[in-house]
Amino acid sequence: MSEQTGQSAFPKSAILQDVLNANHAYSKNFGDKSKLTLPPARQFAILTCMDARLDPAKYAGLSEGDAHVIRNAGGRASDDAIRSLIISHKLLGTKEWFVIHHTDCGMQLFTDDIIRDLLATSLQTATVDENGWRNPEETGGSDEARYTAFLTFKNLENSVTEDVERIRKHPLVNPLIPIYGFVYDVKSGSLIEVTEATEAGKIAA
Ligand code: ZN
Repeated sequence: MSEQTGQSAFPKSAILQDVLNANHAYSKNFGDKSKLTLPPARQFAILTCMDARLDPAKYAGLSEGDAHVIRNAGGRASDDAIRSLIISHKLLGTKEWFVIHHTDCGMQLFTDDIIRDLLATSLQTATVDENGWRNPEETGGSDEARYTAFLTFKNLENSVTEDVERIRKHPLVNPLIPIYGFVYDVKSGSLIEVTEATEAGKIAA
């Protein structure tokens, strides 16, 4: 552990303290990144999964200031992801977009019904084994999840194509933005193009 940062009235968890220490070291060597401009210098955006094994800065060669990275569970083209993409182009000038899902995605391991049932009886982290998902206890919980579409999927390539198509068809998306579809392989670190998706994301002729 490096030095403590700042004083606070509340006790810090080990996780919180680690993050603050790391940030302290980062900001000490911030250098000329203070001169970065708001619009992404390389004029593109990536929509990808929040999976902790994926680091878009590394797998796509990004530095601070280069590109927009929009992340959510699955890298799905949710209404909110599309909201960000629209802003990314309309106000901040990105010209090409990538939709990147990945192998072994957690979004293939459950359905809306499964997570809704789990949440209805407990908010604690569930466990999974060969018999499926299970709550550690059956107390608390809420049926509010019936109002949430979790955007799970079964077929990886189809989910990329479906999302590229949804973005392509959106009335607020400029038809001149090419949208590329890829799968990131968590075993090799490689990006594999989903040709059907990229085809669906071509610019209007
Ligand atoms: Zn994922």
